[in-house]
Amino acid sequence: MEQANILIIGGGVVGCAIARAVSARWQDVFLVEQYPKLGMATSSRNSGVIHSGIYYPKNSLKARHCIAGNRLTYEFSKEHNVPFRHTGKLVVAANTQEEEELAALKKKGEDNGVEGLRLIGPAEIRSREPHIAGTAAIEVPSTGIVSAEELVHAYARVASGQGANIVKRAKVVSLEPGKGTIRVGILIGDEEGAQSETIETRCVINAAGLYADEVAALLGNNSWKIYPVRGEYCEIRGARASLINDLVYPLPHAHGLSLGVHFTKTLWGTVLLGPTATYVDGKDNYERERLPIADFAHSAKTLLPEIEERDLQLGYSGLRPKLVPPEGTGIADFVITRDAAVPQAIQLVGIESPGLTAAPSIAEHVAQLVAETFD
Ligand SMILES: Cc1cc2nc3c(=O)[nH]c(=O)nc-3n(C[C@H](O)[C@H](O)[C@H](O)COP(=O)(O)OP(=O)(O)OC[C@H]3O[C@@H](n4cnc5c(N)ncnc54)[C@H](O)[C@@H]3O)c2cc1C
Repeated sequence: MEQANILIIGGGVVGCAIARAVSARWQDVFLVEQYPKLGMATSSRNSGVIHSGIYYPKNSLKARHCIAGNRLTYEFSKEHNVPFRHTGKLVVAANTQEEEELAALKKKGEDNGVEGLRLIGPAEIRSREPHIAGTAAIEVPSTGIVSAEELVHAYARVASGQGANIVKRAKVVSLEPGKGTIRVGILIGDEEGAQSETIETRCVINAAGLYADEVAALLGNNSWKIYPVRGEYCEIRGARASLINDLVYPLPHAHGLSLGVHFTKTLWGTVLLGPTATYVDGKDNYERERLPIADFAHSAKTLLPEIEERDLQLGYSGLRPKLVPPEGTGIADFVITRDAAVPQAIQLVGIESPGLTAAPSIAEHVAQLVAETFD
């Protein structure tokens, strides 16, 4: 039986950032990912925005890791040639009624320690985004965009270079705690010809994204239930992409469900419109019953009156691992904790947005928990 110090379950951006952080300090690190490639789930189905940290409750893990992760993501991307653009963004009030909420959002961002926020008026909005209609906006200078896929692969490349073993097509199917260790049952390979392997490890890290509740349950921990909330995108067709220069957001959803359907100019010059937010009934339900394009055109017209349904085509979608049920309200924080019954396991649950941005800071937090486990 193979022996490990640390075994990470899940090869998304969070698992790969953790693999990088812990393999810098410890040997015999394994990362296992059920799919044939890393980052195929939520980590490559998002807006690719490096968030600033303005939206989250003060002192929450989301606020703390987003703000630290913002800086760390820029630094890492520069150092490892991950494509990114430091664009800044506008959060726009569509009318004077929304301006009070806009001012409250600015204050929240400042309370969180986000620097450089500035209220601007219609003339300055137009000089940056000539086709956007709004009465006021917050300029958020620390926001940017990054190639999410390349970021995941760069974290994994550094981890491998430091000696981490990254195993793909490897699904964790059982976790048996022993004295100071956990036996991890893994199915390796395609379903028909899959082989069973067992690795005994001193520490397990659950970074399984949408499946983190089910992985926690393998250890007998049923504390969490994840509700997939689909975010769908449209793309603005061809030359009409020139209607948007950078990143333009409306005010966020009132109940914390999402940041609102926004415009993102990608690194490739295309413009995404989305993501929407709908509770769906499966953790692989990316495409069933997609919203009609007319719905996107209707909501986009508030900020971009020139947009027409014919300018849009359906794009991809992603699933948020929400901890708040459909009938609930409010923002649930990231869960990053040692397991209450099995101290050699660390659980990461509900790592929804801003998880892409926060990943390198979450990874430092987890490395500290691992250090305490080994002390
Ligand atoms: C529509 C949308 C837009 C978003 N936009 C942004 C944004 O602009 N900026 C931002 O910062 N964040 C954004 N996010 C959030 C961000 O994408 C996520 O927080 C982040 O990708 C989560 O990464 P993860 O590694 O936790 O999860 P995942 O990427 O889902 O990775 C988990 C991995 O675990 C694997 N796994 C699960 N179970 C097992 C098992 N039993 N054995 C082996 N492997 C297993 C899965 O296959 C998967 O690859 C967005 C999210 C969505 C849905």
